[in-house]
Formats: sequence, structure tokens, C-alpha cells
Amino acid sequence: MSRFWNPMVAGLSPYVPGEQPSEQDLVKLNTNEMPFGPSPRVIEAIHAAASDALRLYSDPESTALKEAYARALGIDPAQVFPGNGSDEVLAHTFRALFNDSAPILYPDITYSFYPVYCSFFGLEAKTVPLTDGFEIDLAEYRQPNGGIIFPNPNAPTGIALPLAGIEALLQDNTDTVVVVDEAYVDFGAESAVSLIDRYPNLLVIQTLSKSRALAGLRVGAAFGDAELIEGLQRVKNSFNSYPLDRLAQAGATAALDDQAWFETRRDEIMANREALTVGLEGLGFEVLPSMANFVFARHPAGEARALQQGLRAEGIVVRHFDKPRTRDFLRITVGTADQCERVVEVLGGLLAA
Ligand SMILES: *Cc1c(COP(=O)(O)O)cnc(C)c1O
Repeated sequence: MSRFWNPMVAGLSPYVPGEQPSEQDLVKLNTNEMPFGPSPRVIEAIHAAASDALRLYSDPESTALKEAYARALGIDPAQVFPGNGSDEVLAHTFRALFNDSAPILYPDITYSFYPVYCSFFGLEAKTVPLTDGFEIDLAEYRQPNGGIIFPNPNAPTGIALPLAGIEALLQDNTDTVVVVDEAYVDFGAESAVSLIDRYPNLLVIQTLSKSRALAGLRVGAAFGDAELIEGLQRVKNSFNSYPLDRLAQAGATAALDDQAWFETRRDEIMANREALTVGLEGLGFEVLPSMANFVFARHPAGEARALQQGLRAEGIVVRHFDKPRTRDFLRITVGTADQCERVVEVLGGLLAA
């Protein structure tokens, strides 16, 4: 607290990211990163971009990257808004496309950045409870709102909504913007990008942080009607004209163009997720059906917090959310096959003790 702060600063409740421990040989399964590096073509592209050209500003519009997204998704570059991580794209979205005529709706169990942005931008929030089975209850979103947002698959549950449900929601909700945060969509869910031509109030947001193994490059993007995208550009150009540096634009473009790398690694993670699920179920865990690169699991006998600490003592870091409906669960990122086996082995030991 300082008397030099703008008074608003004292009232902020900032987002708390998962721990990035400094110890070297931990098995890090707490922030949904990939357990292996990105496509070698990404590294080559970044090396090539690391030149004297760095004296020049980057392309403020990230033109080549927009074109790469458009190629990868079969859409028009005018339907693409890239940003410095999808967190930044989300921030601009809350500012540009949500309104304060009614509350912003999102699930009671979801990505914890949404409440932070609502309060930062002075938007009223209203949480909509997930069903007892931790599914998004679409009927409950049919109420006055200033915007709707949810991840698909949801985080931290991993449960995906079918595309037909999203389309039904869009048919009922035509006067405010519906945002589908697809941070984990590549691991088996259906993308709503196929609907953006038909629904001018749909914005879909994706990231290279998870499925492209590029959390450290900080690149994400929104996809929607060209007029929604223009609203985002106006906000971005009132805040930071060059959010993506030259290395990020080069690396991200190369990542999107390497579809073969992407498919191989995605399939590997999905196979490891199935093995991890079977292993955990063998120990008596209930594992929610995940379409993401993490699982959300609880054990009838184990206290989640104690299990998290027991794993940590064995060098394995997982995430625990100490909130009423989630405190019995551990969220475990899907790692390599060896890492997944090791988690099951250590949890087995902790439960037997
Ligand atoms: C990881 C994550 C993000 C943020 O991704 P970045 O592109 O790394 O900022 C956004 N939404 C959800 C639901 C996430 O899990």
C-alpha cells in the first residue's frame, strides 16, 4: 500500500497464477503446459528472426500471423485478432465487447481470471452453477446479461460441451456477445470457430500456450465477425500497438504451419490422458471425463490438500483449488507417459499409508 497509488489499485484482487517453481527436477503438472518442447520449426523461425531487424518495431497488425491462423482454421484474416497470450485477448474482449447493462454470466467453477477482469473493468458478474455432474447448464444462461463467457472444455473440470449446445445458446442469445474460451479445445472437443460466419455475436478465443507447447511465447487469438474484431483492434490500439514482438510473430506463424507436429503431440497427450485416467480410477479416484490436457479427480478417502502436499514431497507439483465445490479435487496436467505413471505410483503409496 502506498499513498502514491491510484485509489483503484488498493481495491484490486489480482489473478494468482499457478506456481512456477525454481527447483530443477520437479515433475511440473500444475499449469497445463506441455511436457515437451514446441515444433523444431518454431525454434528455427525464432532464430531467423533474432537478427538486426530487431531494431525495427514489429508489425503492429501481425499480418503474417493472422494469415497463418486464417489458413489453419479456414477463415478470413479479417476474422482474426492475435494478442500477447489469450489472457490479453480476454482483457480486450471484456473491455470492448461486454457491456454493463446487465451482469456478465459465467460458470461458478471456471477460469479464475474472469472475475478479475469483471472487477477490473467495472462489470457486474453473476455466476451460473454447474450441474451436480459439473456440466455447464445452458438453460441457465437464458437470462438478461451484458455478455456470456465460458471455457470449452471448461477449466478446471475438463468437461466439454457439444457444438449443438453452443449453437442453441447462440440462437437464444442474440443481443450480447457470447465468448467461448477454447484454451483446451485441441485435445478432443469441437471448436465453435465453424459458427462464426453465422453468428455475428460469437467470439472464439484460442491460445498456443497449451496444444502448441508455447506458453512462454505468449500468443493467443480471437476469431469472430470482422466487426467484433475491429472493436478489439480499437481497444488494442488505445493500449499497446505492438503487443506481439518479432520473435513471437515468427514463432507463432511457424507453429501454426506445422500441422504434422501438432497432430502427433496432441495424439500423444490424449493417449497419456487415457492411461492416467485408467491409473487413477484403479486407485479409486473419480475422474471427470476430460477433453483437456489435464484431469480433475477426487478420491473418496483422500483429502486433496494432503495428497497435493504428499506429491510435492515426492517432487510432483499439481494444482488444488481451495473453493467450496472444488476442494476435494486435484487438477493434474497430463505429462509424458513416464510422468503419468509416476503420479499414479506416488498417489498409490500415499493412499496406502
Ligand atoms: C491457460 C488459459 C488461458 C490463458 O492462456 P494464455 O494464452 O497463456 O494467456 C485462458 N483461458 C483458459 C481457460 C486457460 O486455461
